[in-house]
Amino acid sequence: MKVDMHVHTSKSDGRDSVHNVIEAAEAKGLDLVAITDHGPGHGSAVTEKMVRETRKEVELLQPSYRVKVLVGIEAEILPTGEVYLSDRDGMDLVLASFHGAQSWETYYHAVLRAVQDEKVDVLAHHAWSAGVQFSPIQEYEDLLVEALRDNNVAIEINSKHCLPSWDFLAKCRDAGVKYTIGSDAHKVADVGSVAWANNTARHIFKNEGLFLP
Ligand SMILES: [Zn+2]
Ligand SMILES: [Zn+2]
Repeated sequence: MKVDMHVHTSKSDGRDSVHNVIEAAEAKGLDLVAITDHGPGHGSAVTEKMVRETRKEVELLQPSYRVKVLVGIEAEILPTGEVYLSDRDGMDLVLASFHGAQSWETYYHAVLRAVQDEKVDVLAHHAWSAGVQFSPIQEYEDLLVEALRDNNVAIEINSKHCLPSWDFLAKCRDAGVKYTIGSDAHKVADVGSVAWANNTARHIFKNEGLFLP
């Protein structure tokens, strides 16, 4: 199954329209694509209401396409660990990520709390956060694997940042944590650019354990 579960449109900081993203996903032979624009708290955000509008747009377009289109969001994790999302009505998929950590301690503390939020399906681009030079801390990595497992949150294999590490993903696999595949595309040319993620899923997960909402 060819999937890309992390794509931005011009509604947030992507370049292209929802329609063009779906066209690109179809042209690349994907079976499934998820539109996940940045949520409130990000500099270029969509509101929950805008996501529901995207959903209506997708419902009209879907019958003309083979690729299954999901509508979700990339919700912001705040430094406190709160997930900045009032509700997930009408959303198939909620990714959560922390873009603005000032230190790795802040990052881990926030993420460990965020994955306990029941609105969250997937932790996106773990170990990448603007502004922090990341050095994984084993103790926290282990706690995070447990938290993902205990809260049934999947881990994203992010092809744009080539993250998380294979070491971390192997621990996720051993704990029974599921994974998703994401290009983190911000333009149509990158939709479905998930070679690194697919290769990683094959090596680490033996292609077993893909999370599907
Ligand atoms: Zn992100
Ligand atoms: Zn993103």
